[in-house]
Amino acid sequence: RSRVSARIAGITPSATLAVDAKAKALKAEGRPVIGFGAGQPDFPTPDYIVEAAAAAVHERVNHGYTAAAGLPELREAIAAKTLRDSGFECDASQVLVTNGGKQAVYSAFATLLDPGDEVLLLAPYWTTYPESITLAGGVPVQVTADDSTDYLVGVEQLEAARTERTKVLLFNSPSNPTGSVYPREQVEAIGRWAAEHGIWVVTDEIYEHLVYDGVTAESMPVVVPELADQTLILNGVAKTYSMTGWRVGWIVGPQDVIKAAASFQSHLCGNVANVSQRAALAAVAGPLDAVERMRASFDVRRKKIVSMLSEIPGVHCPTPQGAFYAYPSVKALLGKEIRGERPADTVALADLILREAEVAIVPGEAFGTPGYFRFSYALAEEDLVEGVSRVANLLSEAR
Ligand code: PLP
Repeated sequence: RSRVSARIAGITPSATLAVDAKAKALKAEGRPVIGFGAGQPDFPTPDYIVEAAAAAVHERVNHGYTAAAGLPELREAIAAKTLRDSGFECDASQVLVTNGGKQAVYSAFATLLDPGDEVLLLAPYWTTYPESITLAGGVPVQVTADDSTDYLVGVEQLEAARTERTKVLLFNSPSNPTGSVYPREQVEAIGRWAAEHGIWVVTDEIYEHLVYDGVTAESMPVVVPELADQTLILNGVAKTYSMTGWRVGWIVGPQDVIKAAASFQSHLCGNVANVSQRAALAAVAGPLDAVERMRASFDVRRKKIVSMLSEIPGVHCPTPQGAFYAYPSVKALLGKEIRGERPADTVALADLILREAEVAIVPGEAFGTPGYFRFSYALAEEDLVEGVSRVANLLSEAR
């Protein structure tokens, strides 16, 4: 018998974390590594949220367990915030507070899937998705879009991938890793198709406020209201309020499914840390001006990074309209000689870039699409410029 179960041993180690670990090791040796790997805003959590948390710590009433599904006032506030921000109307009983958006993803699939159920997974996808589907006994069915369509998948592709085992469509717009945002018509077309075939939708809206060029993030069950009874909306405070370490996310969905997921949660982790829930309450019940300031700052960096990447021969970078990632294709550079090496895939090329240019980026293999790099632009503008310049210099040697 093996020491580790086949289920857990089968998890692919996170390539995002692997790049991060290598970059940290180089930094520890004193090398000036610039990291484009991190998926977190580089801003501090706004003061009023920190103060609410500090006050909560001093109130003993906040030191105990909460209800498994979350503090009633937080569930209320999330329902109100959902209506305010996306137009989706729901009751507090339809909200489950989770340990970050990550646990929302895991619990959503654990609650919906039976062994063999298929989930349509739009690629490039966020690294955690396939693992959480597989761990729940489901089968991820990858549906891929490339840079020629700005990474947007069409209904025909979904229809071609549909089988009688298809239970769920996983949707994420704005997307990690591509930054793509589905326009309203396409959200509607996909939503109608899902409704018509009785397919559940799990829609991850964690980047809803980080959109640029005047586009808006459309919530699928708002655009297609008949989906409401077969949709789980995932969200959290991490990206909007720069609260990655506080670990608060949530699922909004039909009452019966939320009740089942809450029952699972009561055995899994009991509840999300009480004080963190108090902080999240201050965040979601408060204003959106801090995220507006972050958004404006990300927008400046977005334009900078896209223009710099686009100038590199062999690199094609669609303009991302959301989140804080750029996802250029570097397919034209694979197999070329750079400093005596011929990297054949983006894992090898990212490794060469880390060693020779001291810049950390995540290869597309981590997102189901070799041939691309993900650059997170959640870093200071001068570091961004220096980092992309180093990559550009190195790649210009390709022969
Ligand atoms: N969903 C997407 C698409 C993400 O990129 C992330 C974080 O990187 C999350 C969910 C989860 O964030 P957290 O668990 O920090 O709330």
